[in-house]
This record gives sequence, structure tokens and C-alpha cells, in this order.
Amino acid sequence: MADPVIRGWCPGALRPMESGDGWVVRLRVPMGRLTPDQARGVAAVAQAHGNGLIDLSARANLQLRGVTPASHTPLIHGLCDLGLVDDSAATEARRNLTLTPFWHPEDDTDRLARALMRALITDAPDLPGKFGYAVDTGPAPVLSETPADIRLERDRGGGLILRADGMECGLPVTLDDAVSLAMALARWFVASGGVQDGRGRMAALIAAGARPEGHATAPANAATAPRPGRTAQGRLVGLAFGQIEAATLAALAGFGAVRLTPWRMLLVEGAGDLPAIPGLITRPDDPMLSVVACTGAPGCPQALGPTRDLARDLARQLAPHLHGRLLHVSGCSKGCAHPRAADLTLTATRTGYDLIRRGTASATPARSGLSPEMLRARPETLSECP
Ligand code: SF4
Repeated sequence: MADPVIRGWCPGALRPMESGDGWVVRLRVPMGRLTPDQARGVAAVAQAHGNGLIDLSARANLQLRGVTPASHTPLIHGLCDLGLVDDSAATEARRNLTLTPFWHPEDDTDRLARALMRALITDAPDLPGKFGYAVDTGPAPVLSETPADIRLERDRGGGLILRADGMECGLPVTLDDAVSLAMALARWFVASGGVQDGRGRMAALIAAGARPEGHATAPANAATAPRPGRTAQGRLVGLAFGQIEAATLAALAGFGAVRLTPWRMLLVEGAGDLPAIPGLITRPDDPMLSVVACTGAPGCPQALGPTRDLARDLARQLAPHLHGRLLHVSGCSKGCAHPRAADLTLTATRTGYDLIRRGTASATPARSGLSPEMLRARPETLSECP
């Protein structure tokens, strides 16, 4: 089987990526928050200049799908009017930052993230395209599973720490020096040989034995994984496979500003109960929360099989058997939708689906050559497999 293509860079608004259903235009929404007008505006341009489908990525970015070479320019004009496009693709690529959606105005997350965003543009060294930052300084850490290389977090006493991904402990910092020390850590990463052939991640450097000085303060315990429902900041709603239709986003904007999360969920600021809006997961026990699936065929040119219809069917059928376990259905061994190990993974191959237990989409399968028909007829196969 041919290996999937690893590009090593991420698409942006000004640097779209070709996909099976047209160009994908990724928006790095400043501060991970759309005002109601911005949310309605994004929905309108996604409908007018794309195919009306919007993905929410694992780094809390939005991806507008189905854009064409002809519709890209009017799309960018529309997004510029909404204040959502940088002045260059280079600036856009540097702004690789995820922040906790549970921030509140008094916890300094907003101030830290804005200062870090400015520093990324003016002070950060050149780094690999996927190198990113997390500002996780809300009431409790929630981004430890979200991809990032340099993290600002809280220690167990509520103080700020700076932590290199892969390290168990971090360096105590203050509000005043947190950003400059984050930039120093980025330079240490480069100076320590973290970048090879334009690629590299902090966790790999740490795993190879490099250690930044003074990182000895333990972070606070992580919060439990969020589920749809009420939070102190508003209502969390889930999106099946992290995808929302433009009309649904426009409807949500009627209830408040929208914060983006890295968990296939949106947080509607200040919203209590919401009326039933088609396309949203509102129950914390919805079986669709137990499955992840990438675009698959035919939307992704690398896919060796379809994913989402199979995942949806299996989620319904397997709900009583999953018991909180995660099923990942991947269109190829790249595993974009869930790069980490999942309890159960089905990976499409040229000869059917591989079944992998407690591994990534490219791990050694326990069984191979499973057909969608057989899986739908006997979904318990997934649980039975040794
Ligand atoms: S994992 Fe899915 S989205 Fe990623 S390259 Fe493979 S088929 Fe495409």
C-alpha cells in the first residue's frame, strides 16, 4: 500500500489546500472566538463561495470546504471584511495558537494570548509549520491532549508555568515574562537541534533526551474531558465528525458569540438552554461522541475507503458495547481525525478495513480485510476481536 502523503505544513486562508471536494481554506480565528456578526458572516461566505460545509479542526481552527480557484478571491474579500485574514500567508502560518475555550476575562488568558500572538509574528524564530502553542490558563488545564509544542498552564497553586510538550513539569513564569520566556523556549528548541529538514516537534526533542533548564514545577491536574452541556461560560454543543453546516452556524450565532474548541464542540457564550437545532449534539451521552472519522472517500484524494457513514452506523449499533471507548474510522493510515491511539480503529486499505485495538491508524492490525457490509451485519466483531 502506498504511504499517505505527509505535507508538513498546514493550509491557511491565503494558502488553501487541495482536497477531493475542492480547496480547503483554514481560518485561524483570533482568540478562538467569533462574534455573532463574524459567525453569521463566516456562514454566509462559506455558503456563497464554498460548499457550505465547515470543519472544526483538532487545533480549534475552522476549515471552509469546497472552495474553487474562482471563488477563493471573493471568499478572502468577505473574510477580510470580517477581520479574519492576516496580511500575509507567512503571518498566518506563525499564528499557530490554541487557547482554552473556558477562559474568563479575569484569568489573564486573553491578555496572555494576545501578547503571545503579537510575539509569534515579531519575535518567534522560524519554526516548522506544525509547531504550535497552547494557552491553557483557565480554571483547570483542558488542552493537555491538544497538539501543541509550548504550553502556558497553571501549577497546582494557580501560578503560571511554561511547559515544553513532553516534559512532565514546567518553569514558573509571571504575567510579565511569560511571553518572552516562551520565545526563549522556542529559540532553545531550534538551538538544541529540534528542527531537521524543516520539520520537528518539541515532544520528539524531549524524548531524545534534551531538557530545558529550570522546568521542575508540576502542572495542575487536568480537568475531565468536556461533554456537551452547560458550563460557566455558556453551552457546549457537539458536531458530528467536527463538521457544521453554514446554516447551523448562522443559527447558533443568534444565541451568542461562538468560541471554538479542539474537541469537535463549540461553546456558545452565555447561552443556557438552546432549542433543538438540527446538526448539533446536545446530549452528553449521544453515541456520536464515541466515534471520530476523517473526511475519507470521496472527499479526500488519499482515502482508500469511505468513513463517516460507516462510523455513524457503527456508533448507533455499538452504543451499548462501547462503554466510553472511542472508535476511530480512518480513510487511510495517516489517521488525521485522531493521530493518537484509540480504543478501536478501523483503517481503510485497498483490501477492506484493518481493525486495530489500542493503537493508531497505522499500527499493526488484529484483523484485516473487513468489509463494510460484514461490519454493519456483525458490529460486535469489533468488541470480540482479541
Ligand atoms: S486520514 Fe483521512 S483525511 Fe487524512 S489523508 Fe487519510 S483519508 Fe485523507
